[in-house]
Amino acid sequence: MEFKVNNKTGSPINYGNEVQSLCGFAKDRLGFQEHPNIFLNHDKRNASNTLGKTGHYDPNTMEIHVFATGRHPKDILRSIAHELVHHWQNENGELDHSGYMGKGYAQKNPKLRQSELEANDPMLFRDWEDSLKEKENTIYNERRNRKMSLKEWKNKEIGGLLTSKWGFKMNLGNLSEAKEEEGPSPEEEEEDSEEGEGAGDDDGEENSEEGEGGGELSAAQKKLPAGLQKAIKARKGKK
Ligand SMILES: [Zn+2]
Repeated sequence: MEFKVNNKTGSPINYGNEVQSLCGFAKDRLGFQEHPNIFLNHDKRNASNTLGKTGHYDPNTMEIHVFATGRHPKDILRSIAHELVHHWQNENGELDHSGYMGKGYAQKNPKLRQSELEANDPMLFRDWEDSLKEKENTIYNERRNRKMSLKEWKNKEIGGLLTSKWGFKMNLGNLSEAKEEEGPSPEEEEEDSEEGEGAGDDDGEENSEEGEGGGELSAAQKKLPAGLQKAIKARKGKK
């Protein structure tokens, strides 16, 4: 059975399949029974507030409300994953709304703090994302493929225009501009750094290139809290 998604954003959503997939994944993994209703809400004012609301779960109506205006689809999906955990907690009678519910409840109400801790565990979302990319790798790499072919197309197109204008075929590879393409174009660089970011999530190994010599900490690392400094030193010692 599909999950009901109420799109209130005023524009079509192009990540509907991912919403269904994520909800199905969470249902299988967590094991909730009822399907919560998902609302994608539009709120311009909230969108312009840096620390504005991202979403909430109503245990009485079993509704998940996510503020979708101005957000990246992946960020919206991450919010849905968070609220799905609250739904699961609610079904199990673990979303205790009897205690303090006011400002700072995550700091002042130990039970709700625990609920937030569970909902903020990133691995439900990450595991879903990775499983989907594994299954449908080609779709999620489409952007890169399209970009590569766009570049080829551009070269061909310019070559064709020059040919028709000057009546001879020009070898674009001989132009100095083409040399730049040996290195990454700004477009590609941007994308590479995106991927680097993703890989960086996995482990901190990239940092190990700096100051490898015998557990010495860099100036920036020396500004970290003592506990972190100790952990960094301990890891360097292992190498
Ligand atoms: Zn929460």
